[in-house]
Amino acid sequence: MKITVYDGATTIGGNKIYVEENNRGVFLDFGMNFAKYTKYFTEFLNERSVRGIHDLLHLQLIPKLNIYRSDLIPSDLSLSSYPRLGVKAVLLSHAHLDHCGNIALLNENMPVVASPMSIAILKAIRDVSYGGVGSEVAYFSWRRPVEGGRILSSCKYKGRNFICTEEMSEDLLDFITHKPGHEGRYADKFEPGELYSLHDSNLPFEIEAFEVDHSIYGATGYILDSVAYTGDIRMHGKNAQKSRKFVKEARNMQILIVEGTCATKEEDINESESLVFENCLKVVEESEGVVIADFSPRNFERLETFREIAEKTSRELVVSAKDAYMLYAIELVDGVCRMDGVGIYNELKDRRSKWETLVVRERWGEQYIDPNEIRKNPRNYILCFSFYDMKNLLDIKPEGGAYIYSASEAFSEEQEFDFLRLYNWLRTFNLRVYGFKMEEGGRAVPKFEKGYHASGHISREDLRWMIERIDPEVIIPVHTENPKWFAENFDGVKEIRDGETLLFD
Ligand SMILES: [Zn+2]
Repeated sequence: MKITVYDGATTIGGNKIYVEENNRGVFLDFGMNFAKYTKYFTEFLNERSVRGIHDLLHLQLIPKLNIYRSDLIPSDLSLSSYPRLGVKAVLLSHAHLDHCGNIALLNENMPVVASPMSIAILKAIRDVSYGGVGSEVAYFSWRRPVEGGRILSSCKYKGRNFICTEEMSEDLLDFITHKPGHEGRYADKFEPGELYSLHDSNLPFEIEAFEVDHSIYGATGYILDSVAYTGDIRMHGKNAQKSRKFVKEARNMQILIVEGTCATKEEDINESESLVFENCLKVVEESEGVVIADFSPRNFERLETFREIAEKTSRELVVSAKDAYMLYAIELVDGVCRMDGVGIYNELKDRRSKWETLVVRERWGEQYIDPNEIRKNPRNYILCFSFYDMKNLLDIKPEGGAYIYSASEAFSEEQEFDFLRLYNWLRTFNLRVYGFKMEEGGRAVPKFEKGYHASGHISREDLRWMIERIDPEVIIPVHTENPKWFAENFDGVKEIRDGETLLFD
């Protein structure tokens, strides 16, 4: 068996790990490496989609391999000198961009193994986005060459083939194979991909999938023959028991490929979703005006936390139409309706997309809440707004209230600048800020307050427990800036660099 880490060995995210035997193999994730991307790209300077994979390959943001989509290779690019691997599938751990964001580039026939929850989330993300390579996992814009073939132009939508780790319901199948509003005569054609179950597929290795706890639902750990891969995992969320089950199943595996996001943290702080609940509840109880809860829109567990807080404080939780659409998608998987008693913010705009008019309005049209309503009774609401929703405050015009930052800390200078902008918005409307503080004087830098967010990643203490419990012969740390920590603490650690291969008997 050969294991090559093409990317994500010593950065947080961008995992592209290839496990191979007799020239047949699978990728464990094929994510976007933000650390590398942001060396070249920023908000208004992006890779050019009309040039297919040209830009990403030249900047070495994706590995030089002959495994990419045939329609993304412009006439002035040739992959023939690059290795053509026998990739049979990508095993996706979860629907975060740093794990799935480059999957859209992979050969059109390459299937993705994923949990039904991940597939539903990815489909909903694609429906509500305007494209861009990161979001094109569930289906992508197929391109045809124009003007001599250096330019590639979109012509139709094509669905990715999926291998689902569990049985899918009829409703979910229907959701995945249709795009709202694309039955019409003038709409761009949508060709759904093929769907199989893990049971019926003929992949290299004996592959088993286990759901694990992370800050997005549907996260999955995999066991392939004698290799266990954690994906992103933690032990302190609502689904911690699922992570524990994975650890039990992975016991005594020969090789453990393990995430180490928190290996860098100096100290372990005690954080959990229940602590977040308590702290945020206190803020809401004490607040006289409107409350804004700012968390990752894909962190459905956090959304449930705030929904519970809203109920306890006799407020109404208000989400965006996009959030409501996402909740519709995940209900198709677990049957849990999260929209009872939840309002949908009526953003002032002149046009609405089909997914909104045909699905969200159709179902929950009565639950829309106008900004004027919130202005009149701010005390009745908790708004799920993030930085990009701050413009809506100009219609609500709150005078005081509370804002809670309930997401991960900024890790780049660019993000720190956004915090300064965010802070200006909050100050303009006299909102009291929880979760971070702005240090004045010199360059303004946010300082984060603990207790309003629980990380999606396993703490160092739990990591130690997990590794001791699994007790593998070989440990391959990935998704970490501190592989040294592993080498210092455990036997059998292989510190690996991007592009390096390990051989096993
Ligand atoms: Zn993640």
